[in-house]
Amino acid sequence: MAQATHTCVCGAVLRFKQDMEKQPGSVSPTWRCKDCGTQIPGTVAEKISHQHPS
Ligand SMILES: [Zn+2]
Repeated sequence: MAQATHTCVCGAVLRFKQDMEKQPGSVSPTWRCKDCGTQIPGTVAEKISHQHPS
């Protein structure tokens, strides 16, 4: 299975759920970069949220 990654505007490479912060939303949660708080596009954040280092 291909691993999703997202390079944030701050330069952080987000690979795992714990690289992001979950923000509760009225319809669906949004995900933000743990380092800078920039919102991550929903489709890629959804994939990353299922990834854990193991
Ligand atoms: Zn960032």
